[in-house]
Amino acid sequence: MREKGNRHYFVDLHVHIGRTEDNHPVKVTASRDLTFAHIAQECQFRKGIDMVGIVDCASPRVITDIEKMLNSGEMMELADGGLRYHDRVTVILASEIETKELNGGLSHQIAYFPFLKNVKAFSEKMRKIVTNPNLSSQNSQITAQEFFYMVYTFGGIVIPAHVFTPYKSVFGSCSVHLKDIFNTSTLKKIPAIELGLSADSCLADCLRELSDFTFLANSDAHSLSKIGREYNVVMMEQPTFKELLLALKRKKSRKVVANYGLDPKLGKYHRTYCKECHTTAKGSPPVFFCEKCHSGKIKKGVLDRIMEISGSCSSISPQHRPPYYHQIPLEFVPGIGKKTKEKLFKHFGTEMNILHNTSRQELSKVAGPRIAADIILAHKGKLNLLSGGGGRYGKVKRDAIKNNKNSFQKENLI
Ligand SMILES: [Zn+2]
Ligand SMILES: [Zn+2]
Repeated sequence: MREKGNRHYFVDLHVHIGRTEDNHPVKVTASRDLTFAHIAQECQFRKGIDMVGIVDCASPRVITDIEKMLNSGEMMELADGGLRYHDRVTVILASEIETKELNGGLSHQIAYFPFLKNVKAFSEKMRKIVTNPNLSSQNSQITAQEFFYMVYTFGGIVIPAHVFTPYKSVFGSCSVHLKDIFNTSTLKKIPAIELGLSADSCLADCLRELSDFTFLANSDAHSLSKIGREYNVVMMEQPTFKELLLALKRKKSRKVVANYGLDPKLGKYHRTYCKECHTTAKGSPPVFFCEKCHSGKIKKGVLDRIMEISGSCSSISPQHRPPYYHQIPLEFVPGIGKKTKEKLFKHFGTEMNILHNTSRQELSKVAGPRIAADIILAHKGKLNLLSGGGGRYGKVKRDAIKNNKNSFQKENLI
């Protein structure tokens, strides 16, 4: 157990379940080994994530899994909310649901609950609303505002998910203002918004109406390896639901002290993408037509959408905004294969240890100087990137690694 007093915790609040323990699908597109127990183990042993939000907990079959783990003593419910796994990882019970505005716009909203009894009551209600309550992110046919009222009644909070994503999000496909979707008193009760992989704090702070919200960078992981590709460092006294809520509201010295995420260029929807000729826009945003074939059949990029809404982006971050660090996960760095990753895990324990507590010299001893330099470069954000778009991730330019490495060596190694 951790000692008293505020301290920093690694927190990822958006992870999906692929299958239940008895092999029923929950999220069809998610990997099969993404079960409740595996997520908790991955957080504990590989990633070093202290608190994880699992967003398919209202599925009746997942609830059965949770109850089994509580009965076996593998997990226990905390008095201040949340479930503690093996005395190490705190699981926050959550449910991601698709909502539909009157204009037809779809968005994803995540409800977070303190206790299993809250999720069970919410799940009962959802059974009557969605077609298949056992599957993830089901369409509820209710508006985001109606969803909020329902979640609030059951003791939960709502955080709009990946708010700029073109297909299903509040800004991406519903409206240009949150106040068109939620009323004023509801907006005061929404403590945070999730940025999504294709945006960061700097981009989101182009929209003045977001200045009061705490920003979250979460992984939206559909496989074990992607847990923690984005995360937050949160200062709390204990990793519990109650403390998390204080931190999101920035009360009693609890707060998010840093967001770690992909460079937005690596996200799947960063720039506008042409569905006809598969070109990703390169020109100054916003781009609404394909730059190559001039087709209007495009999937608008997150950058383009933010520029469209804000007019011209002058990003002004409020005083309370913590730093957002661009970090390239190990799996994006060319040349770091499965074997090398295993070696690194074996020596340094978790990914958070590799990233936050290990020096270049230590990395070099285990993985060799070339890979050590690449890891340090990736985490200094010194690699050149090709933008993602239309559902394809951005890429690290291979030649950039070489060029950057030379300058990096000059700056840091020699
Ligand atoms: Zn999701
Ligand atoms: Zn085109």
